[in-house]
Amino acid sequence: MTPLEERKLGDTIIRELYRDPDYIDDPVVGEYVDGIWRALLAGARARGELPPELDERYAWKVLLGRDRTINAFALPGGYFGLHLGLVGTVVSRDELASVLAHEMSHITQRHIPRLLGQEKRQTPLMLAAMVVGMIAASKNPQAGAALAVGGQAAVIQQQLNFSRDMEREADRIGYGVMTEAGFAGRGFVTMFEKLQAASRINDNGDWPYLRSHPLTTQRIADMQQRQQALGRGAPQADGAGPERAAAPAALPPDLEALMVAARARVLGRPGVDVLRTWAAEPEHAGFASQPLARRAGPLYAAALSHAQLRDLPRAQALATQLALAVAGDARAARQARLLQAELALQAGQPARVLELLPAAERSPVRGDVSAQAGRATLLLRAHAQTRLGQGADAASALQPWVSDHPRDAGAWQALAQAYAAQGQTLRALRAEGEVPMAQMDYAGAVDRWRAAQDFVRQSPGGAADLVEASIVDTRLRQGQELLRQQQLDERKRR
Ligand SMILES: [Zn+2]
Repeated sequence: MTPLEERKLGDTIIRELYRDPDYIDDPVVGEYVDGIWRALLAGARARGELPPELDERYAWKVLLGRDRTINAFALPGGYFGLHLGLVGTVVSRDELASVLAHEMSHITQRHIPRLLGQEKRQTPLMLAAMVVGMIAASKNPQAGAALAVGGQAAVIQQQLNFSRDMEREADRIGYGVMTEAGFAGRGFVTMFEKLQAASRINDNGDWPYLRSHPLTTQRIADMQQRQQALGRGAPQADGAGPERAAAPAALPPDLEALMVAARARVLGRPGVDVLRTWAAEPEHAGFASQPLARRAGPLYAAALSHAQLRDLPRAQALATQLALAVAGDARAARQARLLQAELALQAGQPARVLELLPAAERSPVRGDVSAQAGRATLLLRAHAQTRLGQGADAASALQPWVSDHPRDAGAWQALAQAYAAQGQTLRALRAEGEVPMAQMDYAGAVDRWRAAQDFVRQSPGGAADLVEASIVDTRLRQGQELLRQQQLDERKRR
């Protein structure tokens, strides 16, 4: 299987994933994950682990799933799935980086074509259907069991699981990539310990990651070696004697990671009772005297839980409390500000959003090479501006972004709203068509662009902008061609 064929297969698979009700485009978690992801890609390039051909042909894109189970997986063509459940259990960027670097290494080492190469009788579309079925089964063990009538799903799962050697290779290369990218190797070890602890409990159905990544004795032995190496190499900044040298130095708490993890847990739809429990946590006696590392996550979770329970005044009060508490930490302070802005928007205070997030705001962290750095700010500001009747400002901020990120459906949606608010119907329809197009829903795109053409016909001699109308014609033809291809492929499948 060539990289191009593998990419096509991946596109077919994620077209389904975009339609999965669990798919979530959360700008805050997305930007956070993407920042780690871009740093890892740079690390892989620096180590020569990312051949230019794969770098160019593959998507290198992480899709978030709202699922509460702990899972992350690599898909053909450089797509990756990451469940909010996993984001919700990590306590540092380093831990999340260790999981992502491992999955990335399955792709850079071309493990997937090696597996699929054994499936010679299957057409790419059958393979895509198998992978999509497997993802569905992994999310819901009960449904998975029901699907496994005749053991077929289990057989497929067996065939598509990476071998033990591949897992060890992904550990080894992933560890090299994450440390090259500047993440602490300690995060790899603590994440592994977390998996080991979960594997010891009987009821670990929430950890599908453990099923696809069994902790073999070799993997554990490899990990112990890394741990020992870390212990020896740990800096002795506190002047501790050599007797401390065996214990790897603990890292300072990563407040941002704790806050994003709290967000991921709340977005995972835990149910009203759980939200109420989290919302009430800061009221417990002794909460205020806890160290900041113990309060930052629960405060974030409490604020967002109150918002989900429609008590915005309390949500906002807690977010303010959080912002004051973490003001000394640039990354954490930015997360608190984004939360405050999100809540202000929900509370119908768009002017407050613009105060909290000034135009020049960017990721405050030097060396953060995230392609998405600033996306959360951009989208929150654009929504606020549109509501304030400043749709023109929102559009002029979003236009350069979508030309750099033409497959950003969320940004196209915000742009469509900004145009519609200014009464620019044709432009709004054109942007609305880009939303499904970005997620490879060609029928949806063709539908919007036909509506745009109808609008041009109905408003002759003026309202319609000629340039915009010709862009719509071109995009419609492209959409129709892609739709025709897709329908041909589907016919071949039958
Ligand atoms: Zn793996």
